[in-house]
Amino acid sequence: MDRVVIIGGGPGGYEAAHVAAQLGAEVTVVDTDGIGGSAVLTDCVPSKTLIATAELMTEVSDSAELGIDFFDHEGDATTTIRVDLAKVNARVKKLAADQSADIAARLERDGVRMVKGRGRLGPDLTVIVGDETIQADSILVATGAAPRTLPGAMPDGERILTWEQVYDLTEVPEKLIVVGSGVTGAEFASAYLALGIPVTLVSSRDRVLPGEDADASAVLEEVATRRGMEVLSQSRMESVTRDGEVVTVRLTDGREVTGSHCILALGSVPNTADLGLEEAGVETDEGGFIKVDRVSRTSCRGVYAAGDCTGVLMLASVAAMQGRIAMWHFLGDAVAPLDLKKVSSNVFTAPEIATVGWSQKSVDAGEIQVQVVMLPLAGNARAKMQGVRDGFIKLFIRPGTGIIVGGVVVGPRASELIHVVSLAVAESLTADKLAQAFTVYPSLSGSIAEAARRLHRVES
Ligand SMILES: Cc1cc2nc3c(=O)[nH]c(=O)nc-3n(C[C@H](O)[C@H](O)[C@H](O)COP(=O)(O)OP(=O)(O)OC[C@H]3O[C@@H](n4cnc5c(N)ncnc54)[C@H](O)[C@@H]3O)c2cc1C
Repeated sequence: MDRVVIIGGGPGGYEAAHVAAQLGAEVTVVDTDGIGGSAVLTDCVPSKTLIATAELMTEVSDSAELGIDFFDHEGDATTTIRVDLAKVNARVKKLAADQSADIAARLERDGVRMVKGRGRLGPDLTVIVGDETIQADSILVATGAAPRTLPGAMPDGERILTWEQVYDLTEVPEKLIVVGSGVTGAEFASAYLALGIPVTLVSSRDRVLPGEDADASAVLEEVATRRGMEVLSQSRMESVTRDGEVVTVRLTDGREVTGSHCILALGSVPNTADLGLEEAGVETDEGGFIKVDRVSRTSCRGVYAAGDCTGVLMLASVAAMQGRIAMWHFLGDAVAPLDLKKVSSNVFTAPEIATVGWSQKSVDAGEIQVQVVMLPLAGNARAKMQGVRDGFIKLFIRPGTGIIVGGVVVGPRASELIHVVSLAVAESLTADKLAQAFTVYPSLSGSIAEAARRLHRVES
């Protein structure tokens, strides 16, 4: 029986464990912080649980237009409802702990052995955890990543916070400063704004979400500022300090921004130090990320790596797929290499931004020739009924074949709407094929079919 040892119990690790167990291997998962990893305990699951409350607040705040009357407060929902952050955070933590327990129970049912502790690579395909040395035929390293901090901006866990620490807040911040306008910064800024907290977003770039579709981030910035967010673009943080109840963010141009709390969203560093990687011959890049190929192999025979510690694309879904691919490959099952052009992802802001396949950036850089259609959601009947004005559908097709190679959805529940585009990209469907499938009337997905219809080519 093949022995598989997995270091790290996040999605990269636990999804691989299921596959390995299914294929008949003897599987051990070594984890320090809790099964489910950062994805379940501190990052993905907690933030999306917080955002579920934020979404509801947004809907209620916008509901006067749909005829909801808040009779105690002269029809103004924003003064009628307020968030109980202690309750929200208690729910977040419980849900995350329950999810972790569910995952551990499923692993147990699959016969996976779980060892609590810090693992490191030993000689000859072994993993060392405390006093125990576990022999393996294959090792998967899936140790994830941790929030990046800077010497001039050290979190104190009370008012200067990493994204892992925000769930300890029991009082609503009077004024929140979010430093960093990547996905994590934008999501927290958008969520806390929706919860009724004044938010300033400090962005070193000229727009929020610099890595996303530019049209999408323009919509987000427009909506966020309309809702009252202060966005400071081209503003590089130099330091964050605290004096009593006041937090000051100093910018490199000398300006200062003050608030009651600050969230640092400065990116992630891989958890790859002191893992015995170098001794085992596992190569890392200059940022410390483990180098892997498209079937998750490292430079050391028998050692695979998956997830954030590889830096390939820091998403739970990608981590899980890398982990599964590693096990399919090692255990001789059918395997297709990881294809990043098929990955769909979502930014859980208000509105949501979902993307799949080739991006506008690649198109603009001339990496691929495409025909583009962009259809605003405002004209959609369902959107009008729901009071939705912001957002759009964008599709990219190959000019010759009409095959859909990418798309962007900006709007409510874009994370759900993107799936049909994702399916089209994965299965190389043409715009005509997508357009011919029935959609419900009225529905937001009707706009996806409509966008595809607009790309119909009349043969001349
Ligand atoms: C705020 C935030 C929100 C996010 N939201 C989303 C989202 O909505 N959707 C999405 O797809 N992605 C999201 N992500 C990204 C996602 O969380 C990561 O891509 C995912 O956690 C990566 O999984 P992983 O298995 O590589 O690592 P992790 O989930 O970090 O798990 C690694 C595990 O390994 C353990 N470990 C580390 N070192 C050792 C060691 N030496 N020995 C034993 N165990 C060790 C850790 O304790 C941890 O339990 C979000 C990230 C952040 C920061």
